[in-house]
Amino acid sequence: MPFSFSGSCKKAQTFKYMKEIILIKNGELALKGLNRSNFEDILIKNIRRRLQGLGEFTVKKAQSTIYIEPKDDEFDFEEALNRVKLVFGIAGFSRACVCDKNIEDILEKSPEYLKQNMENIRTFKVEAKRADKTFPLTSPEICRELGGKLLSCFPHLKVDVHNPDLTVNVEIRDFAAYVRGEQIAGAGGLPVGTAGTASILISGGIDSPVAAYTMAKRGLRLNAIHFASPPYTSARAEMKVKTLLSRVARYSSSINLAIVPFTEIQDKIAENCPEDYFTLIMRRMMMRISEKIAKSKGSLALITGESLGQVASQTLPALVTTDSVVNMPVLRPLIGMDKEEIIKIARNIDTFETSILPYEDCCTVFTPKHPKTRPTLELCEEAEKNLEIEALIEKAIAETIYTYID
Ligand code: ATP
Ligand code: MG
Repeated sequence: MPFSFSGSCKKAQTFKYMKEIILIKNGELALKGLNRSNFEDILIKNIRRRLQGLGEFTVKKAQSTIYIEPKDDEFDFEEALNRVKLVFGIAGFSRACVCDKNIEDILEKSPEYLKQNMENIRTFKVEAKRADKTFPLTSPEICRELGGKLLSCFPHLKVDVHNPDLTVNVEIRDFAAYVRGEQIAGAGGLPVGTAGTASILISGGIDSPVAAYTMAKRGLRLNAIHFASPPYTSARAEMKVKTLLSRVARYSSSINLAIVPFTEIQDKIAENCPEDYFTLIMRRMMMRISEKIAKSKGSLALITGESLGQVASQTLPALVTTDSVVNMPVLRPLIGMDKEEIIKIARNIDTFETSILPYEDCCTVFTPKHPKTRPTLELCEEAEKNLEIEALIEKAIAETIYTYID
């Protein structure tokens, strides 16, 4: 049977003399040379922020491991594990029992600490690591001693060094010895905030929340921009966007959302421009406004949920036409993904069910019957001459409403 957390209790296990902590292994941080310490500090700050409200705890780092240590029994250990699982920059983590740095204490505490897991498995092995080389036993000796002890306490068990149900790890470190079960996979990626800030253009659809999540995973802090067209689009559609962003914020931390009124611009496009260029001109207006808002909020790039060829406005010529109005990078993390791949991520991050709620988006309200799949920049620019672009942009930005999503 696979290893599971040692208890279903909410708090850290509180056996007599026993203290439980969370040990965290960094992700790609190991690759970052001199920046490493800075990355670790940001990761620790992010962890602290995510664990707020769960009780008193300390977070410290030593020897490429981060330690989360509850200060008392009131700390909500189980919820802390759930939240740590969503923090980018963590390759793996585990709950661990703190032992004194002597083999007697390790042998006394381990059987009781691992009891629940041991009862549900058939085979195990022990792995030992000594960061502190002054510890009197060698690693193989620690393995032998603890292996023997566990076999005598749990006679149904056998040792299997090749394919064990559970690997028990013993780490002898500077402060103490730690006994833990298997490592649990972390969220991976890089700590949010290590790669700068970018603005996600968020609709209520499936793709843009996935694009936001994907870029936050690479360390970007997120701002968001949503174009709303009341009364064509409803308050429920706006709520949907906020719900989607709050799901993304579980990974990315709080997001500054700009809600831009887009009705007048859409009406003007519908009145003054050829129908087959509607969507494209609308998207160019979105990009122009987004660039201005993004820059005012310190974003260095825009992010969209576009995927090559998915719809008429996402063919290569259409993307070229869209990009030509902005002077900042447009990140499109989904550009090479199939819808099925995108949906899989949407399900994993729990945005899919919200995304498919049938509330209207401003793009769907004004969909032309025959959109241009091979637009030319010249015709697009010609069509836009009928619009007072600068005035429309200024007005929309002046009426934009900002809100924080946690
Ligand atoms: P999604 O599932 O993200 O809505 P989509 O496949 O429906 O994407 P489009 O509607 O063409 O595609 O939108 C492409 C991208 O443009 C979206 O991923 C999003 O980044 C941006 N976008 C679309 N509508 C809006 C909106 N109302 N506000 C902000 N950005 C939008
Ligand atoms: Mg959409």
